Amino acid sequence: MSIFAGIDLGGTHTRFAVMADGAFVLSEKYVTTDLMAAGPKLAGVIARYREVADRAGRKPQAVGIGLPATLDADRRVVLSAPNVDGLDGLDVVSLLEGAFGVPVVAERDVNFQFFHDMKASGRTPRVALGVYIGTGVGNAVWINGFYTGAHGSAAELGHIPVPGATGVCGCGKVGCLETVCCGRWLKGWQERNAPDTPIADIFARHGDHPDIRNFVETAAMSVATAVNIIDPELVFLGGGVLEMPAFPFETLKTRLLAHARAPFPRDVLEVRLASNLGDSGARGACLYVAGKFGTVQ
Ligand SMILES: [Zn+2]
Repeated sequence: MSIFAGIDLGGTHTRFAVMADGAFVLSEKYVTTDLMAAGPKLAGVIARYREVADRAGRKPQAVGIGLPATLDADRRVVLSAPNVDGLDGLDVVSLLEGAFGVPVVAERDVNFQFFHDMKASGRTPRVALGVYIGTGVGNAVWINGFYTGAHGSAAELGHIPVPGATGVCGCGKVGCLETVCCGRWLKGWQERNAPDTPIADIFARHGDHPDIRNFVETAAMSVATAVNIIDPELVFLGGGVLEMPAFPFETLKTRLLAHARAPFPRDVLEVRLASNLGDSGARGACLYVAGKFGTVQ
C-alpha cells in the first residue's frame, strides 16, 4: 500500500489531501490565517497535518507542499510570499522534514495545480504550459519537469511588462500583466464602470464592452507570448476568472491561436480548460510526490 499527503497553503485557505493506493481518501480545508496564528515556523500547519495523518490511519511516505511564494533554485527556501505572513526566508523543506520524518517537496502552488491538471488529462507531454487567471496570474512551465529557471524565479507571466500599463503591481514593479489582466483588475473595472453589476456577472452583462474585450485579448496575447517561447504540446487555461459565467473561453482560445506561431506549435496545440476542484493543488502535490517517491508509478 502506498500513501502520500499533499498540502496546498493558499493565501485564504489551506487544503490537505491524502492519497492511498492512487485514490484520494481525505480532503480537508482550513483558514490559513488561523493556522499561521498558531505560532512561528508553520506550527499550525504541522499540528493540523499530524491530525490529518492520524485520520488517514497510516503515516504518509512523503509530503508535497504548495506555497503562494517564490522559492529558491533548490526549492527549499521561501524567497517571497506577499500574501502570507511568516513564510519569507523560511527553509520549509528542512523544517517540515524534521517535523514529519519523511521526504518533503516544496513547490509554488500553481505548479502542483498544473501537475494535477496534466495528470488528469492522461497525457504525458514533454513541454506544457499552464496559465491560471484568478485574483492574480499564476503560471507554470513544464519542460520534462517544472521549469524553474537559474534562480527559481521562472514562469512569472503575471509580471511581464505590458505596453501602456501604468499601475503598480504587488511585486513592486510598474505595468505588469497582473495590473491589467486578472481578477483584481476586473473588480476595479466593475467598481468604476458597473457598480450595479455583481462581479460574477461582468462577462455575462458587459462581455461586449471594449474594455472587457481588450481584457480577453490581452490574456490571449500574453499566453501566446509564452506559447511562442516554449513551443508546448499542451496548454491549460484556468483560474477563477475563466470560471466566471459567460467567460468567452472559445474567444480566448481562438485569439491565442491567432497569435501563435505556425505551423508549430499552432496547428497541433491542445488548449484545455483547467480543473476547478478546489483541492487540485493538494491533489497535485500528492501525485507529484507519489511519482517521485512511490515504488509504483
Ligand atoms: Zn509584478
